[in-house]
Amino acid sequence: MIFNRRNFIQTSALATLGGIILPHNSYSKMKNGVQPVKGLKLSFEPYNLQLKHVFTLAGSSRSTTPVMLVKIEFEGITGYGEASMPPYLGESHESATKFLSALNLQQFTDPFRLEEILEYVDITAPGNAAAKASVDIALHDLTGKIMQQPWHKIWGLSAEEAPVTSFTIGIDTDEVVREKVREASEFKILKVKLGRDTDKQMINAIRSVSEVPLCVDVNQGWKDKQMALDMIHWLKENGVKYVEQPMPKEQINDTAWLTQNSPLPIIADEALQRLTDVQKTVGVYSGINIKLMKCTGMREAHKMITLARANQMKVMLGCMTETSCAVSAAAQLSPLVDWADLDGNLLISNDRFDGVKVVEGKITLNELPGIGIQPV
Ligand code: MG
Repeated sequence: MIFNRRNFIQTSALATLGGIILPHNSYSKMKNGVQPVKGLKLSFEPYNLQLKHVFTLAGSSRSTTPVMLVKIEFEGITGYGEASMPPYLGESHESATKFLSALNLQQFTDPFRLEEILEYVDITAPGNAAAKASVDIALHDLTGKIMQQPWHKIWGLSAEEAPVTSFTIGIDTDEVVREKVREASEFKILKVKLGRDTDKQMINAIRSVSEVPLCVDVNQGWKDKQMALDMIHWLKENGVKYVEQPMPKEQINDTAWLTQNSPLPIIADEALQRLTDVQKTVGVYSGINIKLMKCTGMREAHKMITLARANQMKVMLGCMTETSCAVSAAAQLSPLVDWADLDGNLLISNDRFDGVKVVEGKITLNELPGIGIQPV
């Protein structure tokens, strides 16, 4: 749709109700009446992602992930967003429907007021981080499209600085692990899920078919700090580059000791969610793993990276199982981080978007405006 300045001004000054033309100020005073004719239009659709392989963590296994696909329309332009809600994080189609239904984005007639709009979204209800992220992502997509630039450029970042991404190998039998590693030969670093009594067996299975660098995610699975340190020394000898959330997030003193003595960087994941949590990880971890679904979206993630850097911490950018929508949104920030783990869209068989690609293991940003996606 072509933007028509004259129509825009007339619509903003006048609103119709039952054929009667009302001045805008009297319209806006109406309660429980007809929705205003302009402003941001939010809509959403529940969707289930099908995983290519059953996904096993230290705590659970699953083969689908519920997501909410979100649209924000304004002046004929559509921004896309997504909430990914793995069950262990407590959000669901029901909770996201309730949260998104409670939002009145039509009160906002300037999508560029991101701070104001996202502050309103945040204070509407506590929690709901993924649902909040879906609105943040759609707004960034929308405003980037209006500016006709991708967000990595708007932020002044260089696409060639985007890092390689790790590809996750779940906990499985030796045979399946070896097969998954062979399938993942394009990737320059593999992420291995540890935290069970088969940890060394997993690493040995991978090393029997590949010398690729590894990182490990323990998902809080190790309880004893000395055992954790011994394991980290062994992992370093086996080509591991960093360790994510080795111990339960509550074991703060043990983790601080481990970080101080560890030959590898220790990265916080479950131990933090949002901007206000970053300070708690300083002196306890070497770095943080930022995920849009935990931190309410791109805007807060950008602030978290700045704060982490001010504290001389490493930064990793992660994701959930997501379509190319949320993964491409996170990828816009990737030139700022040390390590990316943005493989969530590669693990599903029913993606709804075409977006950022992995080429020879490296995140490859495109020139599409907004978050760099097109629906398929
Ligand atoms: Mg993790």
